[in-house]
Amino acid sequence: MKAVRRPLFWYNLVMWLVSVVFASLLIQLGSLIMSDVPTAGKRISREDFLDQQQMDVVDARIDQAQSRLQQLEDEFEDARFVLESRTLDYQNQRASFENWIKTRSATQSESQNAEVVDRVRAVELLKLEERTAQRRVNGLGQDIVQAKRDLAKVKNERGQIVENAVEPYEKARTFEVLKVFLLRLALTLPLLLIAAWLIFKKRQSTYWPIYRGFVIFSLFAFFVELVPYLPSYGGYVRYSVGIVLALLFAHFATKGMAHYLQKKKSEESRPESEKRKLIAYETAVKKISNGVCPSCDRQFAAARKLRKGEDKDEIKVDFCVHCGFCLFSACRNCGQRENSFYKYCGACGVASEDAPVVAQES
Ligand SMILES: [Zn+2]
Ligand SMILES: [Zn+2]
Repeated sequence: MKAVRRPLFWYNLVMWLVSVVFASLLIQLGSLIMSDVPTAGKRISREDFLDQQQMDVVDARIDQAQSRLQQLEDEFEDARFVLESRTLDYQNQRASFENWIKTRSATQSESQNAEVVDRVRAVELLKLEERTAQRRVNGLGQDIVQAKRDLAKVKNERGQIVENAVEPYEKARTFEVLKVFLLRLALTLPLLLIAAWLIFKKRQSTYWPIYRGFVIFSLFAFFVELVPYLPSYGGYVRYSVGIVLALLFAHFATKGMAHYLQKKKSEESRPESEKRKLIAYETAVKKISNGVCPSCDRQFAAARKLRKGEDKDEIKVDFCVHCGFCLFSACRNCGQRENSFYKYCGACGVASEDAPVVAQES
C-alpha cells in the first residue's frame, strides 16, 4: 500500500520529463555552440599539403604524354591498314603473274622475255612497298612502347609528389584532432564536476529536476559527445574519469550509509513517541504494509518462517521483533487492528490518538 498522494506520482513523472527535456535542450545548445567554435568545424584536407606548382607542371606533362600516345596509336592503326592493303596488292599481283607464267610455259613462246622482266619488276615493286609499310608499322610500334614508358614515368613522378604530402598531412591532422579534443575536454570536464557537485549538494533542492537535467546533459556531453574526437589515447581519459567518478560515488555512498546507520542508532535509543514524530507518514504506512519496520528498517514479517497452510496475514506481529517498535494498534473506539500510523480508524472513522493502544488478540 502506498500513502503517497496520487498527484505526487504524476508530479514526479512530469518532473522527470522536465529534466529530460531540459537536458536535451542543453545538449542541442551545446552542439550548436561547439559547431560555432572556430577550430572545431575546420577539417584538414589532403590537398592542402600538395605542392600545387609541382602538381600543375606534372599534370601538364601527363596530358602531353597522353596525347602523344594517342596520336601514335592513331598513326599505328592507319599504318596497319596501309600495310594490309599493300600485302593484298602484292599477293594479287604475284598470283596473277604465276598464272601468266604457267600459261606462257604451256605455249612455249620465247618472244615474251621482255614482258617477263616487266612483270617481275612490277611484283618486286609491290613487295618493296609492302616492306616500307611494314617498316613504318614496326617503327610506330616502337614509338608507342616508348611513349607508354614515358607516360608511366611521369605518372610515377606525380605519385611521388602526392606521397610527399602524406606525412605533413597526417601530422597536421593528428595535431588538429588533439586540439579539438582538448578544447572539448576543457569544456566538458568542468560540466561533469559541476554535475557531481550538484548531485552531492543540491539533491534536496526545489530545483533538483532542473539540476538533474543538467547532470544528464553533462554526462552525455562527456561520455557521448566527446567520443568522435577522441585521439588514440582518448579512451584512457574517458575511462580514468569514469573510474574517478565511480570512486567518488562509492566514497560518498559509504559515507552516506555510515551517516544513516548512526542516525538510526540514535533514533532507536529515543523514546517511541519521539521516534514516531521523526518518521514521515507516507514512508511509515508504505513500510509497514511492505513488512518493514519504519523505525529500524528491518523486515518484521519474515522474522518467523511461515508454517504449512499458514497465511502471512495470520501471523499478527504488532511490535517489531528487532527493536520493539509498535507497528499495529487497536482502535480505541471499536478495537479494530490497524496500522499504528493510520490517522483514522478504517472501521469506524474515529481519529486515532497519539499514543497507540496494542491490538487485543481476538
Ligand atoms: Zn524495528
Ligand atoms: Zn475504530
